[in-house]
Amino acid sequence: MGRFPDRFADADAPLEEADYAIFGVPFDGTSSYRAGAAEGPAAVREGAWNFETLLFERGIDLAEVPICDVGDVELDGDADVQQMAKRVEAKAREVVEAGKVPVVLGGEHSLTPHVVKAFEEPPDVVILDAHLDYRDAYEDEPLSHACTARRLKDQLGIDHLVMAGIRSASKDELFQAEEDGLAFISAYQIREVGLEVWLAEAVENLTGSSVYLSIDIDVLDPSHAPGVGTPEPFGLTPKAVVKTIRYLAPALVGMDLVEVCPPYDNGNTAALGARLVREALGEMWLARNL
Ligand code: MN
Ligand code: MN
Repeated sequence: MGRFPDRFADADAPLEEADYAIFGVPFDGTSSYRAGAAEGPAAVREGAWNFETLLFERGIDLAEVPICDVGDVELDGDADVQQMAKRVEAKAREVVEAGKVPVVLGGEHSLTPHVVKAFEEPPDVVILDAHLDYRDAYEDEPLSHACTARRLKDQLGIDHLVMAGIRSASKDELFQAEEDGLAFISAYQIREVGLEVWLAEAVENLTGSSVYLSIDIDVLDPSHAPGVGTPEPFGLTPKAVVKTIRYLAPALVGMDLVEVCPPYDNGNTAALGARLVREALGEMWLARNL
């Protein structure tokens, strides 16, 4: 990248002293519309250097938060989704077993189920996404980014999964999700009901004791986040996402930020992605150190 160190800003603690371990997954092998998310981790890291260490609104100084950036998961040049899955799970397990909270930079959304597998006690999962990602397979690939929620349902059970911001699905996957009893709220309903009201109720119904948050950046409106693989109009505002992060922070044991696609970005998507990660790091820290 050049101008900035090759790590997320303020992620300068040695791993032994860190509470949070950031790693990247430069993979976009199952992209369905436009590729480029493999460049996401580098762009989000660079985007992080735009910001002051102080999170102004909350008075949290990230310089005081022990964060380590352990780099990217190593993938062969021709890595397929199976290799990505195996190596992401191994890296996540390493981080979780060392007692650190994994914070994963995508890469495409296909990585999430493999991070979640690393936890001995499976967390509940909250996904923010424009897309339902509930296909059983996409182009014959069950590990596709278009199947992420479905795989998590298989792994965890339907009562351990909540989705918000949805505004795109095939008729079949929508039918299947409703048939299975998936708890989700559309971007349209969020404007009527209020995200916090719905979220409080949905999270109340989750049965696990911890939460993993997966943010597909395309949950945001493309006017805020244009640099994505599959842009979908009528999305959420950045503030709505921050409210969700804040609400969930006390229960969070891990998170990812996926689908930033630098070839289609003007820089704002990577900056916003970095900022959401910084909000999450700060809020998790605050929740544990009140
Ligand atoms: Mn997704
Ligand atoms: Mn999506």
